[in-house]
Amino acid sequence: MRHPLHLSAFLLLLLRLPAVAQQGCRSVEYKQDQLLHNPGLTATFLEIESFTHRQMERSRVIVNGVDHGGNGTTTITVPVVVHIVYNNPTQNITDAQVQSQIAVLNMDYRKRNRDTSQIPSYYRNLAADCGIRFMLANVDTNGKSTTGIIRRQTQQQGFSYNDAVKFTARGGDDAWDRDRYLNIWVCDLTDGVLGYSSAPGCPKQNDGVTIDYTTFGTTGTAATPFNLGRTATHEIGHWLNLIHIWGDAACGNDDVDDTPQQGTATHGNPSGMIFSCGNTPYGNLYMDYMDFTDDAGMHLFTYGQRERIRSLFAEGGARYPLLTSTGYVGGSETTEDPGPGSDMSIRIYPNPAVGSLWITTSNTSYTGAVLDVYNQVGQKVVTTRISGVNFQLDLSSLSKGIYFLRVNGAGKNDWKLVKM
Ligand SMILES: [Zn+2]
Repeated sequence: MRHPLHLSAFLLLLLRLPAVAQQGCRSVEYKQDQLLHNPGLTATFLEIESFTHRQMERSRVIVNGVDHGGNGTTTITVPVVVHIVYNNPTQNITDAQVQSQIAVLNMDYRKRNRDTSQIPSYYRNLAADCGIRFMLANVDTNGKSTTGIIRRQTQQQGFSYNDAVKFTARGGDDAWDRDRYLNIWVCDLTDGVLGYSSAPGCPKQNDGVTIDYTTFGTTGTAATPFNLGRTATHEIGHWLNLIHIWGDAACGNDDVDDTPQQGTATHGNPSGMIFSCGNTPYGNLYMDYMDFTDDAGMHLFTYGQRERIRSLFAEGGARYPLLTSTGYVGGSETTEDPGPGSDMSIRIYPNPAVGSLWITTSNTSYTGAVLDVYNQVGQKVVTTRISGVNFQLDLSSLSKGIYFLRVNGAGKNDWKLVKM
């Protein structure tokens, strides 16, 4: 919900927020601290807010109808550097765990996450593809090749949200140029903090997000119920200028048009309609990434949130310099596509299937792709081509049992099919 509120009132409100610790995300308290310690920051935040407002006015998005994509629909690539700051070997998470997090970001920010199916039908048409792609940097600040993953051992037993982790001299690891990279620090955050992020406009050396090593990625040290990578999805939302869905106040203002007003944060993994602030007919949008539910309960950014994010990348916007970053050099998006197993743009149904199977793709990029079906002992039993976005596969020649579908020979994550 967005309603008229003078910008300076917005910041005063932020300064007046009670100092009650919020569970998990500390981005609000962090912003309050930053404002208190950097007198010039108020003006910077105000400038960014009014720039964002102008950009969004210019590009009102029609919701529940046509998507006008006011701030563009081209995919924006954000090179990422992950600083792993560890005190013991357990905290020194693997490359695979880092990659699992990047994969989640590329689903959530592209609306490719499988669990969009869990969005209640009445809110499903709010879910937007934000068009942001996150790639581990392959060129460092000196133009040399890099994996985009930095490891640094520290004597610090843990870190709070005081930013020590962002400075080598304080036991952390210095940030890379924020105009070319998204900096993510992974460390042991104390006091139950899952993560926090800087807001656009903060000092360069503090710019980025920090995530606890037990809530990062989907493998290794990631621990339930924060083991689906959504802490980073949420915190990067803040890094991209999003505010909590309840506007950080009772029935507050998150400066987004299409999110209903909401009383306060939601915890756990609820279902059904929860009403507050008179937000009929459907109630709280607690399945939004900017609420506080468990990872399994979050499924979407809205079109309005997308526009707020993408405003930052307009000429003159706080994240505009990233568009010319050379931190990631690689192929086009098509060649970087993670493949069918991780790409939720392909759906197969019904499964189990009897006579035939439908394969539906969200776009034409798989039209013409080779589809192979393997039996349980790895023998290829069918080879065909996907002829369109809705493709019907005849299964009548197959006997009952379990099969695996493979698209374009990508063998990592085959689709499992049960023939009845
Ligand atoms: Zn937050």
